[in-house]
Amino acid sequence: MHGFSTTAIHAGQEPDALTGAVTVPIYQSSTYAQHTLGEHVKYDYGRTINPTREAWETSIAALEQGTFGFAFASGMSAIAAALSMLKPGDHIIAGSDMYGGTYRYLSKILAPFGIEISYVAMSPQSGNPLGELTKAVRSNTRMIYAETPTNPMMNLTDLGALGSFAKERGIVTAVDNTFMSPYLQNPLAFGIDIVLHSATKYLGGHSDVIGGAVVTSNIEIAEQIKFYQNAYGAIASPFDSWLMLRSVKTLALRMRAHSENAQIIAERLAADERVKAVYYPGLATHPHHALALTQMKAFGGMVSLELGSLENAKQFTEQLRYFTLGESLGGVESLVCHPVTMTHGSVPEARRRELGITEGLVRLSVGIEDIGDLLEDIERGLEAL
Ligand code: PLP
Repeated sequence: MHGFSTTAIHAGQEPDALTGAVTVPIYQSSTYAQHTLGEHVKYDYGRTINPTREAWETSIAALEQGTFGFAFASGMSAIAAALSMLKPGDHIIAGSDMYGGTYRYLSKILAPFGIEISYVAMSPQSGNPLGELTKAVRSNTRMIYAETPTNPMMNLTDLGALGSFAKERGIVTAVDNTFMSPYLQNPLAFGIDIVLHSATKYLGGHSDVIGGAVVTSNIEIAEQIKFYQNAYGAIASPFDSWLMLRSVKTLALRMRAHSENAQIIAERLAADERVKAVYYPGLATHPHHALALTQMKAFGGMVSLELGSLENAKQFTEQLRYFTLGESLGGVESLVCHPVTMTHGSVPEARRRELGITEGLVRLSVGIEDIGDLLEDIERGLEAL
């Protein structure tokens, strides 16, 4: 087994056999020449297979310690492909707290097709490692879907407990690993069946590309994902695949820097009485900190904070100079987001309240700028309260 960065730099990225180019070429071709009728060729049509995309798929599979990788045009199309395994009459249990777009896909697209959905808090609670999950299982439960940490409340799910619970019952598990990236957490290693990414975030890392990925080691699941990828056609383009290959080479360096900066900022915020609450798994006070230490290499760049009111959230975000107000996360530049009006706008108000996604909640995607500058920015924001 190679170290993470060696894998990130070399897996799928051998020097080109024809020219020796050390960077995988962008194969900008929609089709391939065939020599005789009926001949089986590996490369036939660009939606089905493309060498640049294939290199990116090899890379992401290796980084997630999986066997099969599939690259998509966006995180949502990767998630949709995994959820396509569900058929009318099937039941899925999904985490109650997740990216708003995934919630929208489940409730607005899958539910009308006759797929039953239960939203359940699966974080460890009062002695039960899987929270409410155990009570929600039905005879037709086909899939359990989780984000850990969740977006934006930073709750954790116990991956090992989830993997064994589902395996004993023959239920497929899917985990969105976007917030952690494969450098910080590898769900497959804990017995999870499918890992999903919005590669737009840390994998891409520079806020310049939209992409998604699915990784599994289960051949039956891989065959289905391959089928959906080709049948729907929401594939990663050759250029976007190349951007991902370029980006993952520095993933470990970036994730370490994101995590270091976020830890310092979370500690600074937690020490300030104007901040009502800080949600970051790297804080010893986080309810799942002990679990975080067992399944995450470091705690990542995402920090959420409660400022008590919409007015405070507005004052704080407007004072920030380096944290740009914007959707998305995971780029080298710091971003700040207001989930209620931005990423989680499609989650109904009552549900948001239940989850703690209040009007005073602000989410930071801590970038890799110099920490002194970021701290100065945070001070500016706090002074406005
Ligand atoms: N999963 C998570 C955790 C996300 O934050 C996002 C986007 O913000 C997605 C999935 C969707 O990814 P994309 O925007 O690349 O379609």
